[in-house]
Amino acid sequence: MLKFADLIDENIEELAILETLDAGKLFNWNKNFDIPGVANTLRYYAGAADKIHGDVLKMSRQFQAYTLLEPIGVVGHIIPWNFPSTMFFMKTSPALAVGCTMVVKPAEQTPLTALYYAHLAKLAGIPEGVLNVVTGFGKTAGAAISSHMDIDMVSFTGSTEVGREIMKASAESNLKPASLELGGKSPIIIFEDADIEMASDLALEGILFNKGEICVAGSRVYVQEGIYDEFVKKLVKKAKDWSVGDPFDPQVRQGPQVNKAQFDKILSYIEHGKREGATLLTGGKPIGNKGYYIEPTIFADVKEDMLIVKDEIFGPVMALMKFKTIEEAITRANDTKYGLAAGIVTKDLNVANTVSRSIRAGVIWINCYFAFDRDLPYGGYKMSGFGRDFGLEALHKYLQVKSVVTPIYNSPW
Ligand code: ADP
Repeated sequence: MLKFADLIDENIEELAILETLDAGKLFNWNKNFDIPGVANTLRYYAGAADKIHGDVLKMSRQFQAYTLLEPIGVVGHIIPWNFPSTMFFMKTSPALAVGCTMVVKPAEQTPLTALYYAHLAKLAGIPEGVLNVVTGFGKTAGAAISSHMDIDMVSFTGSTEVGREIMKASAESNLKPASLELGGKSPIIIFEDADIEMASDLALEGILFNKGEICVAGSRVYVQEGIYDEFVKKLVKKAKDWSVGDPFDPQVRQGPQVNKAQFDKILSYIEHGKREGATLLTGGKPIGNKGYYIEPTIFADVKEDMLIVKDEIFGPVMALMKFKTIEEAITRANDTKYGLAAGIVTKDLNVANTVSRSIRAGVIWINCYFAFDRDLPYGGYKMSGFGRDFGLEALHKYLQVKSVVTPIYNSPW
């Protein structure tokens, strides 16, 4: 695994280019964060590989007992197209560290880096058959994994609809356990003691990072009434100045959506928003007529029953709402079927602590957003799924616990 990580470091430039060509992600981001980040994910889990062990147990009768932690077996990893490299290693690194073998199915939109990683794995000396990549479509290659009788566990990241299909396929085949990281509609709550400059940057980055194609996007922004007008003024100005264009250009902050289907889906949600009576503060249109570029889009006067507030859009579209009290903010933030992440912006520690305990979501960011790391467990509540990726937590979903018991005869105790 350490050698695999070194080989990735040696090929950062080429991997970063492939990722940009495949997914429209910013080249500089891939080169400076995502690709070096996956090498470090491998190193983190390589460090855990020789520290995985069971417990010695104290049974209530005369027995000696201990647990063995064993690899669960053959794992199927089905991954999406928005972070092809990060997802690949978020899934495979802990599974490799505990000793599983695996089949990875990258998304059909973005198979290139996964194939490159399979090649590097071979060069690194990962034994034949341990880390396999099978490209293909969801309904064929993906479904073959979730319904396979010889696959022991499936680890999936993608939409809630497909997560449901995967659980059904598992139930109808060999009842393999599933770990599902699904959609989100995460709230960012901005209280009126916040620094408006910082809060508007955070909220904008929260929805525009990776062109909104990120399951933890802060797509519902709640702003307390005392600062609402000033916040909106700053936010809209910054959104208009946001640079959208060629993802290879280092000045650009937002590249094209991944493909035409995604582009059309986002534009149709924008049309819905207009029809439902939300106020379009800025954006709302494609940019140019070549490539799938969409303007940073902000809707205000939005209500919780509107489709643009309920559904995950997976694009640069923010729904902005005003609130009065902390209780109201908590209730409205929780009024969603999802529970992946939430952001809180305040200087008041008591407010931050109260809200973080009251939101049903897997990650709470206070005065920051998208603060990820390989040691931060990551996953959802509610219909955002279950199971955790990253952190030492992730090792456990790829492990079985075996209890071993022997009697103790003629013990003096
Ligand atoms: P998104 O909505 O982000 O495109 P999807 O959930 O559609 O995400 O896809 C995520 C991954 O799931 C992809 O690798 C895709 O090929 C795969 N997939 C799609 N449909 C199925 C299915 N029915 N069974 C298994 N995998 C699937």
